[in-house]
Order: sequence, then structure tokens, then C-alpha cells
Amino acid sequence: ENGPQSIMRAGHELAAKLYHHVLTLTEEGKAGREYIAERGFTKEQIEHFQIGFAPDRWDALTTILSKRQFPLDIMAQASLLGTRQQDGGHFDRFRQRLMFPIWDGQGNVIAFGGRTVSGEQPKYLNSSESPIFQKGRTLYGLHLARPTMRKESTAVLFEGYVDVIAAWGAGVRNGIATLGTALTEEQARLLRRNAETVILCYDSDQAGTDAAFRSAGLLEEAGCFVKVAQMPDGLDPDDYIRTYGAERFQSNVIGASLTMMAFKMRYLRQGKNLQHEADRMRYIEEVLTEISTLQRAVERDHYLRQLADEFSLSLEALKQEQIQIYRSRR
Ligand code: ATP
Ligand code: MN
Ligand code: MN
Ligand code: MN
Repeated sequence: ENGPQSIMRAGHELAAKLYHHVLTLTEEGKAGREYIAERGFTKEQIEHFQIGFAPDRWDALTTILSKRQFPLDIMAQASLLGTRQQDGGHFDRFRQRLMFPIWDGQGNVIAFGGRTVSGEQPKYLNSSESPIFQKGRTLYGLHLARPTMRKESTAVLFEGYVDVIAAWGAGVRNGIATLGTALTEEQARLLRRNAETVILCYDSDQAGTDAAFRSAGLLEEAGCFVKVAQMPDGLDPDDYIRTYGAERFQSNVIGASLTMMAFKMRYLRQGKNLQHEADRMRYIEEVLTEISTLQRAVERDHYLRQLADEFSLSLEALKQEQIQIYRSRR
């Protein structure tokens, strides 16, 4: 089959080989290797994720594609190449960037993410959408993580591909990531087909927390059981692993992830002093409201009991209160 899509795929395969070769074996790859060393990626990580480097040239990939007789306009449609205004000629779109191949579910390279190693903007340059690449349908690392996802029926969802790679180095083999956009319904369904439990491991900042709530809703709708991993303020998973090491990441972050309800309860506690009655009452009401959104009766019962125990309340009183909440909602 020789349609434009298969040409695009073949071109990406070739580009991935070139970039990986440049990073690992050439003088031009030095800036990439220095950056890699600084970030602490190992040889195993470089190989497993086929990381590469786009040299600081306008024609490295263009020349090779053209030697191999790839139609360059098709490669430009897939945003691997740019097109010059003046003469319609082509040039490398990715230059002086660490290159992360992005695969489809079968392991075909369909796009790239390129991280600057020189402080240029944008920090990450990702391929544009193309006939072979739709961000909202793609999960970074899915074909690599799938065997472990299936075996453990659990996936760990990260914000960035660098986090997936760092976590893999720390022994987490079921990590995947969205591609710089919010999780879509389609990605949630794709996840659910491969794992029942999804652990959200987003950056520990306000954006990450907001995204976790949003993703959790979509994942629960798709039928997933959602947990949330937490890290100290401001860190992302890659930072955490570099600061505290693999073992603590496994035990104190992934292993200590909270159920969505426990995560919400912790969130609702923030800024309240539960010794004070007014705060306590507001907290109890907010938690009850959350509990009443749970689908399963056994789950509602579990958290009602927990709440009753914690505040020495009768289960009966909490149930009455909850009925009020249901009524007021109609
Ligand atoms: P690093 O550790 O290299 O700084 P990161 O993965 O921690 O990178 P974040 O700023 O947390 O980067 O962003 C998470 C993800 O969002 C990135 O992996 C990338 O996919 C996407 N992203 C971030 N910044 C940009 C950008 N300027 N343009 C496009 N995508 C971006
Ligand atoms: Mn190699
Ligand atoms: Mn981050
Ligand atoms: Mn980071």
C-alpha cells in the first residue's frame, strides 16, 4: 500500500532512526548527550523510548528523505518538514531538540515531541495534527505499557512524556501520557480497554490538581476506578524521582495513591479548621455531597461510615442529612 499515510509512517520511521543515530553515535549529537546527562537519563531509557536528537541544521532530515525519494510535500503535511515561502523548498522543522518519537497503539512512529536543549521557545515543539496523528486519540507510550497495564489491570497517567520515561526508569512500567492537552473521552475509553484502575500522577501544582479532577470525571464515566498520586508542592514525577529516588517514588507516591474520594476529602479539608464547628459542619456537608455522587451503594455506605466514625456522628443522622442534599438538588 502506497497511500500518503503509509508514506508518512515510513518517513517517521526513518526520521526516528536518524535522530536516534545522531544522538547516540555522532559528533552532532553532543549537545543532546550533554543535555541527557544533565537530566540523568540512562542508556536503557534512551533505547527503550528510542530518544534521539535533531541536529542544529536546516537540512539533516530533508536531505535523507529526499535521497530516499520521499515526496517532501507529504512529509511537510505531516509537519516533519517546513516549506519555504519564496521557492516552495523544504527544511527540517525540528532542529537542536531532543526528539521523542510518539507511536500509535501498534508501535508505528506517527509524530514527534521535541524538547529544546538551548532554552529556545517553545520548550516543547510537538508535531501538528496530521492524517496519521490525532493528539486526542493518542496516548504516549501505550504500546510499550500495554503488557504491564493488562497484567496489573492498572495504568499510571502522567502529564508529560518525560515523566513516563523517568517513571519507567524507576520501575513503573505501565506509564502513559497525554500530549500536552487535556484528556479526551476517546483517550479515557482507550485506557479503559486496557486497564480498570487508573492512577493519575500529575504535576503537583494548581494546574495539575485541576486537570486531575477533570480527568477523573472522564475516566469514571468511561468505567475506570481512579486513584490520585500525590507529591510535595511544585514537583512533577520526574523532579520527584530525581530528588527522592525510585524506591520512594514507588512506595510514597504510586503505592500511596489515594482513592478519588479520599483525595477529594483531603482537598476539602484545606483551609478549614475542623476543630471549629462552622468549618466542621461545612466540611461534613461538602463530603456528604461528594458521597451522594458515588454510583455504588456499598461505596456510599463505606464513606458514610468513615465520616460517622471520624466525627462521632450516627450513621442515621448522616443519612438524614444526605436525603436533604438529594432533595435540594432536584
Ligand atoms: P520538563 O521537565 O522538560 O521541563 P515537563 O514534562 O515537566 O518538561 P510541563 O511544563 O510540566 O513539562 O508540561 C507537561 C507536558 O505538556 C509536556 O510534556 C509537553 O507535552 C506539554 N508542554 C509543555 N510545555 C509546552 C509547550 N510550550 N508547547 C507545547 N507543549 C508543551
Ligand atoms: Mn539504539
Ligand atoms: Mn512537568
Ligand atoms: Mn518536568
